[in-house]
Amino acid sequence: MSHRLETKAIRTQMERSQFLEHSTPLHLTSSFVFEDAEEMRAAFAEEKQRNIYSRFTNPNTSEFIEKVVDMEGAEDGVSFATGMGAVFGTFAALLDSNDHIVSARSVFGSTHTLFTKFLPKWNIHTSYFEVNQVDKIEQLIQPNTKILYAETPTNPGVDVLDLSYLGKIAKKHNLILVIDNCFATPYLQQPIKFGAELVIHSATKLIDGQGRVLGGVTVGSKELIREIYLFARNTGSALSPFNAWILSKSMETLPVRVDRHCETALKIATFLENHPKVNWVRYPFLKSHPQYNLAKEQMLQGGSIIAFEVSGGLEAGRTFFDNIKMLSLSSNLGDSRTIVTHPASTTHSKLSQEDREAVGITDGMVRLSIGLEHSQDIEDDLSQALNTI
Ligand SMILES: *Cc1c(COP(=O)(O)O)cnc(C)c1O
Repeated sequence: MSHRLETKAIRTQMERSQFLEHSTPLHLTSSFVFEDAEEMRAAFAEEKQRNIYSRFTNPNTSEFIEKVVDMEGAEDGVSFATGMGAVFGTFAALLDSNDHIVSARSVFGSTHTLFTKFLPKWNIHTSYFEVNQVDKIEQLIQPNTKILYAETPTNPGVDVLDLSYLGKIAKKHNLILVIDNCFATPYLQQPIKFGAELVIHSATKLIDGQGRVLGGVTVGSKELIREIYLFARNTGSALSPFNAWILSKSMETLPVRVDRHCETALKIATFLENHPKVNWVRYPFLKSHPQYNLAKEQMLQGGSIIAFEVSGGLEAGRTFFDNIKMLSLSSNLGDSRTIVTHPASTTHSKLSQEDREAVGITDGMVRLSIGLEHSQDIEDDLSQALNTI
């Protein structure tokens, strides 16, 4: 019987131990024991599926992976110590030197650094398309292009990319479409339905949702995941069983949390849109969003991230930030606590002014990660800070 997403997030569970715990116990162990030499040989030869060593597999990481696999409609998955571990592990496992990537220009800051500083060491280069010019993608494809990469909604501009279109291009040119689905979560959007072969999550964000642990996961087809698994198992960015246990528990509340995040985010986005000190607001489920119809087609709700620009540039921005009282000034996102970030001076400060402008990051741009506090309290804090400008 196929369950709905909310049920999968809760009921996907490993076999119970002899103690029949109702809640999955924590398996803090680096290795596992064998009955005899034959069992050990069969396990190492992969004739028998079982846990050997926690860098390879562990019951807690397996349960966490299985939940994401189920929700995303994937075949298999690999977990990593962090979201960047998952991004790097995926590229490193699948690419050979001289391969080429076509990526949206607007990607997570560290992913951008990976593309521009580290992958070129292996002569792997990346060509970028603007998120509002997906029709230019085909011009960038070379004979050695292997991966088409994007995030949607994007960070921090909250643009929405057409997953069906990306899926079609990838299929036509025999590329592996990899989607970083971190902002949407497996609850709001399942890129595999639209033709993605691999989906990456930074579980650090909404999957944990309470700002406690780091984690990452890549899910997709059995064949590609096998390559990524072998890379992960032999290079050591394993997710700790403790973090996996936290993340698997967090998954159980992901749908109800994300429902509330989205409900509050839409209220706050509407409030900001009507505020005289705000130049513009970007939120996928606001009618003013340029890809509003597309967002409605591929996402269940608009997500928890809002971008907006305070009027008055850098100086006004600074005044606004200095007058925030309750909300957190931090660079994280996807937390139960609402977070206010200034991308130009923090998460995207390593980009040149030109690159920042190309992805729409202005000096006065603010990124809001809407938390789970009462929506009126969030609005009140933003309102008093905006009124000091
Ligand atoms: C945070 C983030 C990452 C990296 O995840 P970490 O767990 O911090 O390594 C990758 N992609 C996106 C979109 C993110 O927001």
